[in-house]
Amino acid sequence: MPELPEVEVCRLGITPHVINQTVSKVNIRTPKLRWPIPKEIKELVGYKVLSVDRRSKYLLLRFSSGTLLLHLGMSGTIRVIVANTPVAKHDHFDLVLANGKALRLNDPRRFGAVLWFTDHIDEQGLLERLGPEPLSEEFNYGYLFNKAKNRKVPIKTFLMNNQIVVGVGNIYANEALFQAGILPTTLAGEISENKFNLLTDIIKDVLAAAIKQGGTTLKDFTQADGKPGYFAQSLMVYGRAGQPCITCKTALEEIRQANRSSVFCPSCQS
Ligand SMILES: [Zn+2]
Repeated sequence: MPELPEVEVCRLGITPHVINQTVSKVNIRTPKLRWPIPKEIKELVGYKVLSVDRRSKYLLLRFSSGTLLLHLGMSGTIRVIVANTPVAKHDHFDLVLANGKALRLNDPRRFGAVLWFTDHIDEQGLLERLGPEPLSEEFNYGYLFNKAKNRKVPIKTFLMNNQIVVGVGNIYANEALFQAGILPTTLAGEISENKFNLLTDIIKDVLAAAIKQGGTTLKDFTQADGKPGYFAQSLMVYGRAGQPCITCKTALEEIRQANRSSVFCPSCQS
């Protein structure tokens, strides 16, 4: 599943190809992904892409007439292609540009989204309850500690809650908690401010490293063959249950929390 770093690398990858380009055509091949694709998107023709922003895992293409929102769901990818590239299976949506290129969304599982907002995007229900961006200054020392006060929810579930902070998906929650030495089952309200500050730094580092690595290892976003892949990262705990901890060699353990896999070192994390 694409996580925040993949979406950010996608944003960085597509931006130079679409910025200041005028939309010449919109192709909707599948009327409904996670939600119906609004027909009003066709009215984008003639408008110029002013910027490509990201909020959580939503890509936001800004136009003077509104905002096009794209979400990759569970399995989506976006490529910049030559506009007349033959359509492949699961190619649901194209934004064709006057420079002869197109943004093409492919999504086998169809949990992605293509939406159009003419109102100010931040006012939309989809985004308004989201917590801060983990790489922003808003996500700072004291933030998690204050949010966690009296919370009796396990720290891993707490971190993965988009209303607390966005973009800390399952892989990154596992990795950050290992690096901070915190058991995923520890109740959020019982963690010290110092530990939370350490965790804040680690979350920023882990995500920034993934974005940096993604920028160098991802396939070109303009390749017509093969899609930009998701990152194959060097992970310390995720996917390594039963294997020795890289720090102390104790066998890593795995439990289920909120129906997601949590892998941890029973010796290094407390
Ligand atoms: Zn260990």
